[in-house]
Amino acid sequence: MWQIVGHDWVVALLRNRIAEDRVSHAYLFTGAPHIGKRSLSLNLAQALNCKEEERPCGHCTSCHKIDEGIHPDVRIIDLHHQALLRGETLAQQNELRIDTVRAVEADISLRPFEGQRKVFIIPEAEIMNPQAANCLLKTLEEPPPHAVLLLTASDARLLLPTIVSRCQVFGLRLLPTDVIAKELQRRCGVSEAQACLIARLSEGRMGWAITAAQDGITLTQREERLQQLLALPNVGRIDRLDYAAQLSRHPHLIGEVLELWLSWWRDLLLVRSGCEEMITNVDLFAPLEKQASKHSPRDLSGFMKAIRRTMMQLELNANPRLALEVLMLDLPVGTD
Ligand SMILES: [Zn+2]
Repeated sequence: MWQIVGHDWVVALLRNRIAEDRVSHAYLFTGAPHIGKRSLSLNLAQALNCKEEERPCGHCTSCHKIDEGIHPDVRIIDLHHQALLRGETLAQQNELRIDTVRAVEADISLRPFEGQRKVFIIPEAEIMNPQAANCLLKTLEEPPPHAVLLLTASDARLLLPTIVSRCQVFGLRLLPTDVIAKELQRRCGVSEAQACLIARLSEGRMGWAITAAQDGITLTQREERLQQLLALPNVGRIDRLDYAAQLSRHPHLIGEVLELWLSWWRDLLLVRSGCEEMITNVDLFAPLEKQASKHSPRDLSGFMKAIRRTMMQLELNANPRLALEVLMLDLPVGTD
């Protein structure tokens, strides 16, 4: 049984293709982070190798091995894999390099060891550097019939158009809040209220929602970060710059923190405009209302633009500390 919730049209198409034995040699799943691209790839790998009638069955040896990441014919080509291959640490990997893709090229021509298909999953394929991408292109041009490549990316535009054109592309959409809330109750056993809150906060991303419901850290971190955010308008310039400096020391967190900020300031604007029912941070309505009353709509939308600008600059490799310092100086001071 497919374990994917909400992307029914993709699952239906893939299931038909498998039943009719018309599987493409390359698929690209695109969509927001944590929306389910990796789970879908693993599920498809299971369906392609499962020997039961209802594929993927989820309980045969092959399905189990893929779940546990030990199936000899299903490989995940990511930075973890590259670190192992090179005998280096994960921290030393910042892009997928050509040697890693060359290893795929060599491996793909060998026949499957115990399954029907060899499946290579390349999550976040945008992390390939240009040489690696060009190397992959050659593999995509003439893949052996027993092999299937599954690529994922947040946006197809981040990949070489020549790679995209050789894949069958499926764009995964954000899921409705009620679909996520129901699944959280079913799968994670959380209360209805908690499920509704997490579903709202997930903004349509099932993977994020499940992690948040299970790990006990994501929600605590969100609260801590929002507390810091709430304190910032009331502190002086030196403390704000100090905050920017501290955050810039954790580059992998900046994106997440800025997303959270954006959701907060969007909520402030919604509350200020009388559209409370559309807010994301539903559990913090009182502080939202209090802060919203201190700012003009113009200030609120101005700061949202500043956050977006900072995100774009960081994507273009701006210096994180400088970009965050400028953002801190743009933070509007509320009027009491
Ligand atoms: Zn199975």
